[in-house]
Amino acid sequence: MNIKTKLTLAIGILVAMIVLLVMLSVVNLQILTATEPNSPAADLGLQRALLWISIVGVACICTGVGIWVRLPASISNPIKEITGGIQEIANHNYEKRLDLGNNQEFIEVSKNFNRMAKRLADYHASTLSDMKAAKKYMETIINSLNEPIIGLNNELEILFINDEALSVLNLKRTEIIQKSAEEIALRNDLLRRLIRELVSHPGETATESKEKAREKKEPLKIYADNKESFFQVKYMGITQPGKNGVTLEKQGYVIMLRNITEFKELDSAKTSFISTISHELKTPVSAILMSLQLLEDKRIGALNGEQEDLADSIKENSERLLSIIGELLNMTQVESGKLQLKPKITKPIELIEYAIKANRVQAEKFNIQIEVEYPEDKIGKLFVDSEKVAWVLTNLLSNAIRYSSENGRVIIGARQTDTGTVEMYVQDFGKGIDPRYHKSIFDHYFRVPGTKVQGSGLGLSISRDFMEAHNGSLTVDSELGKGSTFIMRFNS
Ligand code: ADP
Repeated sequence: MNIKTKLTLAIGILVAMIVLLVMLSVVNLQILTATEPNSPAADLGLQRALLWISIVGVACICTGVGIWVRLPASISNPIKEITGGIQEIANHNYEKRLDLGNNQEFIEVSKNFNRMAKRLADYHASTLSDMKAAKKYMETIINSLNEPIIGLNNELEILFINDEALSVLNLKRTEIIQKSAEEIALRNDLLRRLIRELVSHPGETATESKEKAREKKEPLKIYADNKESFFQVKYMGITQPGKNGVTLEKQGYVIMLRNITEFKELDSAKTSFISTISHELKTPVSAILMSLQLLEDKRIGALNGEQEDLADSIKENSERLLSIIGELLNMTQVESGKLQLKPKITKPIELIEYAIKANRVQAEKFNIQIEVEYPEDKIGKLFVDSEKVAWVLTNLLSNAIRYSSENGRVIIGARQTDTGTVEMYVQDFGKGIDPRYHKSIFDHYFRVPGTKVQGSGLGLSISRDFMEAHNGSLTVDSELGKGSTFIMRFNS
């Protein structure tokens, strides 16, 4: 029965009963007025009419109370049930179904509700299984990678990790998945080293930051399966469009380890090959220079003009060869980790004088004027391997001369900053270096494209390595067409 019928029926019954009550009252009134009030017949009729009025009156009250109690409940109860059902759906209980009795309107509502709940349940089941399938697919891909890979959220909890990473870290999947990497790192050195980069400590000193940067650059050495392996660590931030769909929000990190053991082995084979060859070449080239010196000795016999030119050319080329051999040997020393510093107290001016002396002939050849800038006040002494630092300064001065135009001028100097750092610099007014190459010029064998002056592309990279070995730095400040300044910094 629908609500409308219910209401009509209830009101109809009530009205009919009231009509009946009124009719009986009228009959009663007629009896009272039409007959002799004191006659026995009138008394009986009155009695009967009163009884019927009472019965109909009580029935009227009962029906009224019944309607008053039942009618609102019969409307509000299904509404309550529908509200409860909606709440269940909102709480993701898609199995909830409604049964609202035989109320026609509510039957329709409950049918629609149940259809909706079923569809939601089906959709949920299908998306859940889709998600599960996608997760499985991703896990298979990650596991099939030969390189170790670890995924972390912003709180550094491990979200995923492949078998390679588990084997390198010597951990079990169940021990670490969804667990805090920082906690696991307390008992796993390797993981600690890996996540160190991601953990920022507020009180971190500059030295600690530098140490981190150095570690990041150097490959990770791992002993596993009784052999040494080298890995290059790559950190990637995972971002996703935020709630507004525009800005990217950080979701976590992925740590990838690339096994570079093979390259490392090849590289060290190359380094030892270059080292051996350079050593082998050094002796004959030195012998050529010695013989040349004897040949130029007038006591043995004078050379004619042409022979002198030839001897000069042989000398120049042999000296270049010797300097390249020297550079290669320096490079192999750095690469093989065999660089040993022999520091001693050195005055910066001594290094400057050495570099000028070593470059005098070249400077005279191109008519380059070398100017020295040195503070009159006291400048701090350095505790460095003077041979290596002198080599760097000589190389920078040689570059400044070689890359300047003839008749140019070059400045070599030293200064002390307010923080006490000693800086040595070489400035030229040559063609300068395009900013695009300011980083690459410090790479092995790199030469700015189009450079005509002969060279090996090794000097600056070795110079930077030597400076870093001293915990110092080498930087460039250069503008095309205006010249370059190379600055060596010795941190105090
Ligand atoms: P090399 O000079 O033997 O080529 P370097 O490592 O010393 O090797 O220098 C790398 C490159 O940087 C050079 O080839 C040159 O192109 C550029 N360069 C270095 N110093 C200067 C300078 N003072 N002015 C202009 N270019 C320079």
